Amino acid sequence: MDLCLSHPRYGYYKRQKGDKIGKEGDFITSPEISQMFGELMGIWSVASWEKLGLPQGVRLAEIGPGKGTLMKDLLRSAKTFKSFTDAVESVHMVETSLMLREKQAEALGGTKAEDGRYTLPAELGSKPVSWHNTIAELPEGPLLLIGQELLDALPVHQFEYTEEGWRERMVVTDTDENFKFHFNFKLSDKATPAVLHLEKSGFMPDNPQVGMGIEVCPLGLDIFKRVAERIAKFGGAALFIDYGEDETQADTLRGLKAHSMVDVRSEPGLVDLSADVDFSALRMVAEKVPGVRVHGPVPQGHFLSALGIEVRLNALLDSPGIDDKQALDLYDSYRRLVDPEQMGRKYKVIAIVADKHQGPAVGL
Ligand code: SAH
Repeated sequence: MDLCLSHPRYGYYKRQKGDKIGKEGDFITSPEISQMFGELMGIWSVASWEKLGLPQGVRLAEIGPGKGTLMKDLLRSAKTFKSFTDAVESVHMVETSLMLREKQAEALGGTKAEDGRYTLPAELGSKPVSWHNTIAELPEGPLLLIGQELLDALPVHQFEYTEEGWRERMVVTDTDENFKFHFNFKLSDKATPAVLHLEKSGFMPDNPQVGMGIEVCPLGLDIFKRVAERIAKFGGAALFIDYGEDETQADTLRGLKAHSMVDVRSEPGLVDLSADVDFSALRMVAEKVPGVRVHGPVPQGHFLSALGIEVRLNALLDSPGIDDKQALDLYDSYRRLVDPEQMGRKYKVIAIVADKHQGPAVGL
């Protein structure tokens, strides 16, 4: 999964051609469905900042920013709160794909000086923006961070309990002429390093039954834990939005191409691979970090309503010059984000806040 998505040349997110995210691409995400999504993230940032006691020198960050749309909408809506904008020292984009970094810079519409420094345009607050490979590269200071549909894109490992103990599901080449893919799945003969590691860290379920499977995303857990540690040290709040369940599942890995499900073994590097997020595991790792609290997960629909999506929708529907088609599109995108039958329930929100933060995380 890692190679298929991140191989420097053939990885899905590294390939130059085409737009993957959006109506014309393979999948569509909430910030691309409606500007309201990013705008509400702006409201979340300002309200969280207030609950944190109005800290100065804030690092406003996003991890996995895709096309940069969320950050653009967030900054535009947060800009109306001058004291918040004044408290933000810099904006940070944690993004591993060079191609997407360029798209993000373009979406934000800022300027790049000769020394490479990038500054936001005045309408988005004129702050410096920098790009990073990992959370560890962020400068010190209170953090406000958003990770929207990042965790589902990180590689998972799958395990099955057999008569001999836990085994890992491996990918092997398959040369059988009658088999339509070049790759197939096979359980490892022995306990792999990942099995040994998870057993040692107490992650494997107690009393497993033969045939039971579990799916684990070590990179996602590691990122979540590092964000919690950083918030414990410097203060702040982080929000992760993604689809998944509040329990460990067996096999949710899926392939998506042109908005249709395809076999995960087909066309490596040309198909988007993703898996449900295990919110129970995220909560477990972050709750072990002293100095932070974890809130959620709550369904995306509840979260957006708590932040006032209906008020924002009505304001947009009342804007001068809006025609019937635009009004219908707006209402459809609202429904898509909050309706439990669409993205409202399957997509969930989890937050980490510093102990200092008053009450539960905003919207949760
Ligand atoms: N948040 C965006 C994009 C989601 S797609 C949206 O909702 O539209 C996943 C994003 O995470 C892409 O930008 C991808 O390049 C990025 N990504 C993948 N692995 C990453 C990692 N380890 N660290 C940071 N970003 C990563």
